[in-house]
Amino acid sequence: MAKDAQVVDEVAAEALRQRYRVEREKRLRADGMDQYLELSAVFNDIDADPYAEPGFTRDAIVEDVEVVIVGGGFAGMLAGANLRKEGVDSIRIIDKAGDFGGTWYWNRYPGAACDVESYSYLPMLEETGYIPTEKYAKAPEIFAYCQLLARTFDLYRGAMFQTEVVAATWSAETQRWDITTTRGDRLAARFMVVAGGVLHKAKLPGIENIETFAGHRFHTSRWDYAYTGGSPSEPMDKLFDKRVGIIGTGATAIQAIPKLAEAAKELFVFQRTPSSVGVRNNKPTDPQWVTSLQPGWQQVRIDNFTALVIGDQPEVDLIQDGWGEMLFIDTRAPATNAQHEAELERIDFENMERVRTRIASIVKDPATAESLKPYYNQLCKRLCFHDEYLPSFNRPNVTLVDTDGRGVDRITASGVVVDDVEYPIDCLVYASGFEVMSDYTHRLGFDPIGRGGVALSEAWTDGPSTMYGVHTRGFPNLLMISTVQGGQALNFLHPISATARHVALVIASCEAQGIETIEPTVEAEREWFKVILTNLMHLGRYNEKCTPGYLNNEGGGDLRSARAAAYLGRPFEYIDILEKWRAGGTFEGLEVTRKV
Ligand code: NDP
Repeated sequence: MAKDAQVVDEVAAEALRQRYRVEREKRLRADGMDQYLELSAVFNDIDADPYAEPGFTRDAIVEDVEVVIVGGGFAGMLAGANLRKEGVDSIRIIDKAGDFGGTWYWNRYPGAACDVESYSYLPMLEETGYIPTEKYAKAPEIFAYCQLLARTFDLYRGAMFQTEVVAATWSAETQRWDITTTRGDRLAARFMVVAGGVLHKAKLPGIENIETFAGHRFHTSRWDYAYTGGSPSEPMDKLFDKRVGIIGTGATAIQAIPKLAEAAKELFVFQRTPSSVGVRNNKPTDPQWVTSLQPGWQQVRIDNFTALVIGDQPEVDLIQDGWGEMLFIDTRAPATNAQHEAELERIDFENMERVRTRIASIVKDPATAESLKPYYNQLCKRLCFHDEYLPSFNRPNVTLVDTDGRGVDRITASGVVVDDVEYPIDCLVYASGFEVMSDYTHRLGFDPIGRGGVALSEAWTDGPSTMYGVHTRGFPNLLMISTVQGGQALNFLHPISATARHVALVIASCEAQGIETIEPTVEAEREWFKVILTNLMHLGRYNEKCTPGYLNNEGGGDLRSARAAAYLGRPFEYIDILEKWRAGGTFEGLEVTRKV
């Protein structure tokens, strides 16, 4: 793999080790994950849906249904699509949003795009017959694709939007889930599939006096175009006389900042930890390449992307982008000996040196360039790739306010304070991310009540317990698609697609075989947790040295949070486990009751 030489000798390596340690220590906080606030904790209106049809009403639905799917993002849609393919027709999909799309419904901030190439990310391209217009499709195109997917599999029939589940209770009498909603619906479902999303519950930074800010403010996942002007695809034309502040410099901010920089009179970027930003090199889809595609091409490409980014070093690189270049060797892999460990460390250092050198070559002001340089191992934070982010800091209207790892000191009615300097702001954008490791039911927004009236939050007091992240004991016919003990990959859609298909096939075979209920055994859950824990241990040593962030539980963690971890082995292995289990055909690990 051709790369610019970035030699890190032992003297430089020791200096980097020391620097990484210092940067990590600056950022460790006793309050860990508790530092963040919920949107609703501070603002009544900030969590409202700015995109939904106002005043929408409909009659309450009272119905017996085979499957209720909670969540209309990709996971829920793919479960629905696969159920339809398997001939399970009686489906309801519930979502609080006004349409399908999940992440892509909510995240309409300017510049939003998928940073995983669209040919691997957008699911079922061969079934829908769609080819993305560019390598890294932008959010409006992805949102439109969600609608196409829904139309292709007739998912609008049965969709219940602007509707939230209030309660879901297992009835031993009817052997169904009784589900009630905010619109007065009462559904009795044989199966409940919960596809509640991974990064969907927005959080705010816990900054002193955050509630006192009197200017305009919103979270990136609730972009207020009425205030900023423009749209996801048009420039914001109402910010030309506004001083805008943005808090956060993660993957979302990296995409939004160039657009804000173009539109605002002044832009202040408040940074706690810089992101690693590599070359993007987006390009339109080549029509000749499209004509060369053979049936089955997409799965080959999806597998190739994942193989490239987990260090499998496949012979062919179909993707040819920065992800594969940075992650061609898995620098977190368990080292076989001291020499191997040193080699992995050297590669990690050299990759990050390339990122830092690129910053210095683009950002003209040396102090700003220095502040933008990330000093941590490459997988401590999500890698970013963008070609307009760094040049934004060369604009005269853009100021980087680096907080040297502390975060913003406090907020006042009229601005943001860092190092005793108040930056006056008209509009404050929170690019502060989403809850990732908070309790599953908290993120879900409801607490399923299983056998014997036990709530899921209660059953999981000591942390989640599942079989494959899909089934949990005490909750018959509940099937989950999530990262809690479930599959995870850089291309989220890879394990999500496999799990959604698995869930649909399990339900379809229950229907075909007259199976009434399924529920995992204690033993099956115990065995699965051993698998989760083994894979988690591999990452422990790497994370120990990392700057805090949501990928490492803000530098904290205990057995309870370990129980909420995803399957962190190779995504192919997770998918293989599901496939082998299905091929076994014996419902191993599940207690099964049959219809009489
Ligand atoms: P992140 O959680 O990654 O970023 C939040 C940012 O807010 C960080 O820079 C954080 O700093 C900063 N922050 C938090 N508290 C404070 C504070 N008190 N003062 C100053 N700054 C603060 O959220 P994002 O929305 O950026 O991204 C979340 C995830 O969404 C990504 O990791 C990715 O998985 C996904 N995503 C995917 C995209 C795609 O194209 N596929 C695009 C965008 C997002 P610190 O780093 O120090 O904690």
